[in-house]
Amino acid sequence: MGVQKPILWEDIILDRAASIATKGKQKNKIRCDTDSVAGAVSQRACVYCGARVVLNPVTDAIHLVHGPIGCASYTWDIRGSLSSGAELYRNSFSTDLKEQDVIFGGEKRLARAIDELVKKHPAKVVFVYSTCIVGVIGDDLEAVCKAAASRHNIEVIPVQSSGFIGNKAAGYRAACDALLRLIKPNKPMKRTKKPVINYLGDFNLAGELWIIEDYLKQMGVTVNVAFTGDSSYQRLKKTTSAALNIIQCAGSMMYLAQQLKEQYGIPYFNVSFLGLQDTSDSLRKIAAYFQDEQMQARAEALIKRETERIMPELAWYREKLKGKKAAIYVGGGFKAISLIKQFKEIGIDVVMIGTQTGRREEYETINELVNEGTVILDDASPSELEKFMTEKGTHLLVGGVKERPLAYKLGIAFIDHSHDRKHPLSGFVGAVNLAKEVYATLCSPVWNYL
Ligand code: SF4
Repeated sequence: MGVQKPILWEDIILDRAASIATKGKQKNKIRCDTDSVAGAVSQRACVYCGARVVLNPVTDAIHLVHGPIGCASYTWDIRGSLSSGAELYRNSFSTDLKEQDVIFGGEKRLARAIDELVKKHPAKVVFVYSTCIVGVIGDDLEAVCKAAASRHNIEVIPVQSSGFIGNKAAGYRAACDALLRLIKPNKPMKRTKKPVINYLGDFNLAGELWIIEDYLKQMGVTVNVAFTGDSSYQRLKKTTSAALNIIQCAGSMMYLAQQLKEQYGIPYFNVSFLGLQDTSDSLRKIAAYFQDEQMQARAEALIKRETERIMPELAWYREKLKGKKAAIYVGGGFKAISLIKQFKEIGIDVVMIGTQTGRREEYETINELVNEGTVILDDASPSELEKFMTEKGTHLLVGGVKERPLAYKLGIAFIDHSHDRKHPLSGFVGAVNLAKEVYATLCSPVWNYL
């Protein structure tokens, strides 16, 4: 920032002090899971974005954004979620609210939009997302959706995601509430005793779900439905028949898992398929849960075969990347934790790490995993990221679409670990892909010209 830094910048840092810690210098209690400090220019996405991220991969649903057109363009078709069937989810429908609607209300416009869409696209479910302006003018989404559902004899589910009502995590919860309405069976569904599981918090980015589904199939485990990667109305309706829920993205799906346990008795635990160590541990954990020795043997054979296949490649990258320093700023805590371990696997030190919506227990784990002196921060602003990356001499930033320009302006290598990417980073395949991508960007000759 140099001597030109704005005077207020220091004040913002003071307000944010409790959300920033350096391992070894402060106690590990960090302020998190709260609303952003006003004026701090948080990197967080809004509530609507959080809801959209979770629901959009439902492939055969109509996703209707009730709001001005800008909200619908935000998050439209920048997601790498793939489908094995319907492609309806690739559309971003909007009621395109204008000044007149803000003054007189947008309910009639919303009802007309649902009628028109249902006529054109014979979907069984419509998700109607609320946005900031809808929260301000007070349209009754519940009533409009209820009337439309009975007119068309399909499910029309309001998603209470007005942008300003909280942070991105509130959007995750709004999406989970919408999903809970959808999956509620008309009559109690019998839970299977077979190894059939729901996979929560995988959005099938670049086909990641299919990679993990294949590993599980080799072990003898069937995926009933994933939330929400490559999911469909029919598959979601079978949710409550599964024997177990596993959760990859805990930030977005923990609430749903807790509700499924409370309402339908389905047990759950966390997994992570990011990196060699976490992928192996997770496969073992699933096999151990079903207490089937043959399944455990199949899991061990798979882990051994894949580890032997990728270890030489990872060792090559580790040699090239030794001593490099990385900064991580991602959406949720689970991903941050896995990335620390994954970077250790390829010889990279994490010197700064933060998340948009990490929870206290996740920050405690992060604090245990990182080296002394690592800066840990929750809900950061671009100024803070810049300050700490510069101070720490970072070579690489891992983030999403909003962090990319910051890295390039600072002349730092960047890799995308958000929902926008088009290549898989999960499983054994993903562990190599990550190393390859880190190497390609960090060791690019372009840095010689800066
Ligand atoms: S819901 Fe609000 S914050 Fe989110 S994109 Fe729309 S206007 Fe922006």
